[in-house]
Amino acid sequence: MLHIMFENSDQSKTDLSELGEFGLIDHLTKSFNITPEFTLKGIGDDAAVLDFKEEKVIVTTDLLVEGVHFDLSYMPLKHLGYKAVMVNLSDVYAMNATPRQITVSIAVSNRFPVEALEELYAGIKLASKLYKVDVVGGDTSSSTSGLIISVTALGGAKEEEVVYRSGAKTNDLLVVTGDLGAAYMGLQVLEREKQVFKVNPKNQPDLDPYTYLIERQLKPEARKDIPPLFKALEVKPTSMIDISDGLSSEVIHLCKNSKTGVNLFEEKIPLDPAVISVCEEFQLDSTTIALSGGEDYELLFTIDQGDYDKIKGNPNFTVIGHMTEEAEGMHLVTRANQKIPLIARGWNAMDKKEDKK
Ligand SMILES: [Mg+2]
Repeated sequence: MLHIMFENSDQSKTDLSELGEFGLIDHLTKSFNITPEFTLKGIGDDAAVLDFKEEKVIVTTDLLVEGVHFDLSYMPLKHLGYKAVMVNLSDVYAMNATPRQITVSIAVSNRFPVEALEELYAGIKLASKLYKVDVVGGDTSSSTSGLIISVTALGGAKEEEVVYRSGAKTNDLLVVTGDLGAAYMGLQVLEREKQVFKVNPKNQPDLDPYTYLIERQLKPEARKDIPPLFKALEVKPTSMIDISDGLSSEVIHLCKNSKTGVNLFEEKIPLDPAVISVCEEFQLDSTTIALSGGEDYELLFTIDQGDYDKIKGNPNFTVIGHMTEEAEGMHLVTRANQKIPLIARGWNAMDKKEDKK
């Protein structure tokens, strides 16, 4: 069962100053192991030494800022550490590459005790173990206000395996993994319960009906299964991106980088039944949520039509549209078979749709 407490439940507290900067990094990372195959030297020298053998090196970095990207009143620190790693690994998988190492840097105010950072690093450690990446460096600093986390991920791929955003061709099929919109609706549920909790702090919410949505928000998993699946199916996508900002803006990225248009079919967008029911409860349009919600960390890619038989019927994949000539533009084809322009913020797209009714 998912149990979210809307409060800081720190029982024992050790002030950060008791360890000092170097003591802190040692303390937080002493139980991290490395795999010598790809990491010759991890933490403990001036710099790490990595071995990528015959592979090209893929590098990506993300910055997460308290109050902008996360809210600690419902984001447990262990989950935050886990998610900070996932966000980066997702970008490595979106290049059709395998992540090998991460670095983690944090800036933290003295309102956080050592025990809070131990929680954060427990999440980072769990993610690095499950996804087989080495934590090879990082830095800690004090911050005058909230918590800031920056993770950099390094991955490897053979040059011919790397998939860019720019390779889609006219008539390629547009395909997405998993389902969309759940992470955003999980956030809406958490925000609502936070407001309820502010009014009545004794009332701990019953979040059981929303377990899937909240897990998608608080504990997203990057699609590490997908690059090996492509290899097994002998499919190489022509373009790929991960879905961090919402389907519509990611589709637009693929089109602009590949110089194509698109027809995206509303009725094909994969939605979990929990998303459909919670959208009814919140009186939100589920298509709008899938288009602009974000944080799903699924993969969006294009394949040549000739590869369709290789992915057909695979439960991981849903074909949601096809690429067109650039001059045809980028469109959402609604259930009513109307074509409306696809724009980065699905909210506006839906306004237009309503105007036409
Ligand atoms: Mg990305």
